[in-house]
Amino acid sequence: TTPVSGKHITILHTNDTHAHVVANDKEMGFAKLAGIIDQYRAANPNTLLLDDGDTVHGTTFATLVNGESIVKVINKLRYDAMVPGNHEFNYGWKHLVELSKEIQFPVLSANIKQTDGTRLFQPYTIKEVDGVKIGIIGLTTPETAYKTNPKNVEGIQFTDPAAEAKAAVDEIRSKVDVVVALGHLGQDASSKDTSLKIVKEVPGIDIFIDGHSHTVLEKGLIGDNGTLIASAGEYTKYLGVVDLWVDGGKVVQKQAKLIDSTQAAGVQPNAEIAALISSIQKDQEPILKEVVAQTSVNLEGAREKVRAGETNLGDLLTDAMRDVSGADVALTNGGGIRASIKAGTVTKGDIITVLPFGNQIVTLKVKGSDLQAALENGTAAYPEPSGGFPQVSGISFKIDTSAAKGSRVHSILIGGKALDPEATYTLATNDFTAVGGDQYTMFAKYPQAGMFGSLDEALIRYMQKTGSTSLQVQADGRIQEAK
Ligand code: ATP
Ligand code: ZN
Repeated sequence: TTPVSGKHITILHTNDTHAHVVANDKEMGFAKLAGIIDQYRAANPNTLLLDDGDTVHGTTFATLVNGESIVKVINKLRYDAMVPGNHEFNYGWKHLVELSKEIQFPVLSANIKQTDGTRLFQPYTIKEVDGVKIGIIGLTTPETAYKTNPKNVEGIQFTDPAAEAKAAVDEIRSKVDVVVALGHLGQDASSKDTSLKIVKEVPGIDIFIDGHSHTVLEKGLIGDNGTLIASAGEYTKYLGVVDLWVDGGKVVQKQAKLIDSTQAAGVQPNAEIAALISSIQKDQEPILKEVVAQTSVNLEGAREKVRAGETNLGDLLTDAMRDVSGADVALTNGGGIRASIKAGTVTKGDIITVLPFGNQIVTLKVKGSDLQAALENGTAAYPEPSGGFPQVSGISFKIDTSAAKGSRVHSILIGGKALDPEATYTLATNDFTAVGGDQYTMFAKYPQAGMFGSLDEALIRYMQKTGSTSLQVQADGRIQEAK
């Protein structure tokens, strides 16, 4: 449709890129994205570029240097603003504040506050484009409070995004022509603070740039109050494009679309961004390429597998945790295992890809009844995948899916003997679950008895120690579904 009148503004947007900087089949990578962005900027100088978060973490390219590499790339792409997503907190909020000082455009979030009420970031910014004033409000999912290691968000809180959005809209609506919400909130029913809820409760938002749920909205969708919601999937598979026309101080027309790798097949990647990415990769190569072990089998770490059942990688990792700590039992959350390892040579890069959170192994002296409660917690969603699914060692158990939630786990054996609810066991777990991550709240009350280095180091050493040929082809059945 051709607009009747007004100034044409283009808003380009990315979300949930998770440091997928390099192109593959479906993922365009940042050099290609930049090539498309260049074309849009050339075609319409009134173009803004926004990022909706989950940007500085996700692959070794980012994690090896705590997100610094991504900051260099996004600075060069000249974004106009971004909002922190939950994964921005994976290096701790203080580090995020440091990163934000290096980021050469505004980092916005209206609903992240320190305990004294001061905001971590500015709530909004106002951009003037060809005389058109555009207010951009940042909103971050309150799920961050429990989706990252609790120590990463200690001392900060995530306030109600609807209330904060409303306050910001009230403040700026009369001063601007266009209101854009840049919200890492998503549309999954698992989160109570969805983009759909915000646009319903907060009139006066013209456009909501969404993320977090990795939703692909080919043409956007019109939510309540006429707000256009746009979301560009994940992993640089899409660049989001919102076109709007502003006349007489208001938006007279708006539409959304996505550009994917097929549509962009003819677009040249931006050479400068490509060069920057390869030079960073070159610096990282010696570390990542280091061969640390061999495996004769594929080690299963696929998301839908490790979050819904025992896998040979879960077994191996928890065996390693028990080995290094001497604990009776080891437990790690399946959601912390982020990739598989293929049979063959294993590099340091492969290991960091599996375990990108830099988790430490800690031991706790826990009561048997709390171990039991932990298994119930971790399997509450089973057979549906959930991040908390327990990969274990030194303990075996069965899940009866027909039993009531909270009493589905039975036949728990520790070192071959029935679990004694009153006995004390030494548990090795990671520092995320140890402080209550993935709802393992029963662990949080215990002081940490010992620390045994990082998960990735333990896995490497254990693989070297046991040797490639003794690795299990499959899970050995320590977790079973049975009545
Ligand atoms: P996205 O925002 O991209 O959709 P998400 O983080 O909201 O991703 P998941 O990819 O499912 O959703 O990741 C959440 C899970 O990751 C948690 O439930 C937990 O199992 C795991 N996780 C997150 N942070 C850590 C950490 N620091 N240590 C161990 N596990 C973690
Ligand atoms: Zn997210």
